Amino acid sequence: FDPQDYVSELRSYWASEGGNAFYSLLTRCFILINSTQSRIKIVDTLVNCLRTIIEGDPDSLLPAVWLATNSISPSYISLELGLGGSAISKALKKVCGLDSGGLKTLYDKYGDAGDVAFEAKKKQSFTLRKPKPLTIKGVYQSLVKIANSKGNGSVENKQRIVERLVQDARGAEESRYIVRTLVQHLRIGAVKTTMLIALARAFLLSKPAGAEFEILQRSELAKLKKDELAAIWSKAEETVKACFARRPNYNDIVPGLLEVGVCEELLLRCGLALHIPLRPMLGSITRDLGEMLTKLQGRDFGCEFKYDGQRAQVHCDDKGKVSIFSRHLEVMTDKYPDLVKLVPEIRGDGVSSFILEGEVVAVDRETGDLRTFQTLTNRARKDVDIGSIKVDVCLFAFDLMYLNGEELLNRPFRERRGLLRSMFIEKEHHFTWVRSIDASPAESETVLEFFKSATDFKCEGIMVKVLDNLPNPDLQTEVQDDAQLNTPTPVTPSKPKKGNRVKVAKEEEKEKGTRRKALLATYEPDKRLDSWLKVKKDYNTAADTIDLIPVAGWHGQGRKAKWWSPILLACRNPVTGSLEVVTKCISGFTDKFYQANKEKYSEDGDNVIARPSYVEYGGHPDVWFEPQEVWEMAFADITLSPTYTAAIGLVSDERGLSLRFPRFLKVREDKSIEEASTSDFLAGLYRKQEARAQANGETGHAK
Ligand code: ATP
Repeated sequence: FDPQDYVSELRSYWASEGGNAFYSLLTRCFILINSTQSRIKIVDTLVNCLRTIIEGDPDSLLPAVWLATNSISPSYISLELGLGGSAISKALKKVCGLDSGGLKTLYDKYGDAGDVAFEAKKKQSFTLRKPKPLTIKGVYQSLVKIANSKGNGSVENKQRIVERLVQDARGAEESRYIVRTLVQHLRIGAVKTTMLIALARAFLLSKPAGAEFEILQRSELAKLKKDELAAIWSKAEETVKACFARRPNYNDIVPGLLEVGVCEELLLRCGLALHIPLRPMLGSITRDLGEMLTKLQGRDFGCEFKYDGQRAQVHCDDKGKVSIFSRHLEVMTDKYPDLVKLVPEIRGDGVSSFILEGEVVAVDRETGDLRTFQTLTNRARKDVDIGSIKVDVCLFAFDLMYLNGEELLNRPFRERRGLLRSMFIEKEHHFTWVRSIDASPAESETVLEFFKSATDFKCEGIMVKVLDNLPNPDLQTEVQDDAQLNTPTPVTPSKPKKGNRVKVAKEEEKEKGTRRKALLATYEPDKRLDSWLKVKKDYNTAADTIDLIPVAGWHGQGRKAKWWSPILLACRNPVTGSLEVVTKCISGFTDKFYQANKEKYSEDGDNVIARPSYVEYGGHPDVWFEPQEVWEMAFADITLSPTYTAAIGLVSDERGLSLRFPRFLKVREDKSIEEASTSDFLAGLYRKQEARAQANGETGHAK
């Protein structure tokens, strides 16, 4: 890592005029990131871009972070650009002097609006007026203006702003990224997943004028051994991630960093706050009860029914105001007015404010019988009128993170659960606790019985949670995966380069291996730890499942002639942003499903697109789908494939991975395409499968 390298290069891209950093600085950073597959180089580039801004124009840092992560506000604040594709097309026609035919030819050829803008700008032979260089702050403010533009004349107003941005973009590359920003498809997903790491490192290395905190000097850096440097990075990254997990909003964390740098005080400033959702703790997958007991390393645990509904984080302040958030931090308060109304009834004496978590499940109000997840999805998403609710729900509470102004995250699970059960009041078939038992590793029969009763009760399986912390935390040694690396990234397509990928994967593996975390009974926001395990009934019967994105189809044969069959499915490569094709599927679909699928992706509808540049596949489907949904797929096993490109380079440099006997299970209504399985995940399943085969004395799959 040579911090000086890119800094001097990037500095030449930034402005002195008025002291505001030019947007060309960000464009240059995006180009550099796009030109590499290496996560390490991506982080370095981003770090140096952020450093340049922190030291040169700190006021532009927050806008730069929003622009680089391709958003303008956190998911729990509804601030949408709301631009249709036609606004971009109109602007390109006007600014670049193209007619409809010329524009269509470019769209047909390139598929991506940014690439179209790139080509159109190259061809532009005149300018409407002298362009005014775009600044980072200016671009961000324009986006906020677009989002806030409401009511009469807003369409024209938005159009004017879009045209000005396209007009002022200097050169073809800047146009590409401005347009990708406007269509909210920046296609550099790696930036989103590495932003927190990059911020932590950038602030260790630089400070804005006037700030008092300490930074690492270049001379100090040179003296450090590799593992010493890694330890410093890791501590700083953990701090920044912990802050963001509690307050997932750059508007909170960036000003904090500018003021105090990366330190304990930052954590105090970014504590839990009512009506701001924290990122939820996640459960690790275990194949069966045997593996579960091994993972728990002899610790006592609580087993809970794993209900099949929607996770809900309920906030209530001392004035009785209630907010409800989803697993992905979206506001659901308007979706569940019945739960809002319930809050005063379940709040026991002595409870003034709280944040609790539970699963909302559709129920039969009379009998309390659980209804399916599908039933719950029939409920409207927004502005539900309490008088016309047709799907009744019950909230099964499982955790308490905040009570009467105090954070409970550092309390052990047994204590949080005790408070939840003693301070709140059950209301039959409306609000209750998840059904649970406590057990020790010696009681495997009891756990098996409980697991059976959960599945008999129409639950998905069980959740298993460590109850207490060990008296001596030094005894706790467990390697954990990093929730941040599993965090959804947007589908950000770009052409991936083959070849060097095994090396890149090894680099990343090495990076991950340095992150260790103890088996704790505390609530760890945004972490997928072995102190929370999920054991699902599917795991015992079928093999693993994978969540893929349908991307294309062929005209069916015979009976299926009127539908799309087979359908082509892809996983995500979060580093390159491309979608890597895994398999074709013809199995598991009902005729009704085929029919609905054909209607959704009808040839003359909006959901069918030109061949996209971001899908990696050499074949020629009859139709390409706009990626927009996630399907859970079962399969017999994973094979190396010369045809499919998924995970190419991760286990073999020449071959990708594919599925044998793929079978459609269900649409994951609760997952967006940014949460589809990654190529890394697929490679992990393949390695596990090979290890199992070897342990069983089999030869493994043909290479
Ligand atoms: P994840 O949420 O872990 O990323 P996922 O979306 O695939 O993965 P699942 O694998 O089904 O979800 O499991 C986790 C989810 O189970 C939780 O997010 C929560 O909504 C639900 N759940 C149901 N019962 C419980 C419980 N007792 N404790 C914790 N979570 C529960």
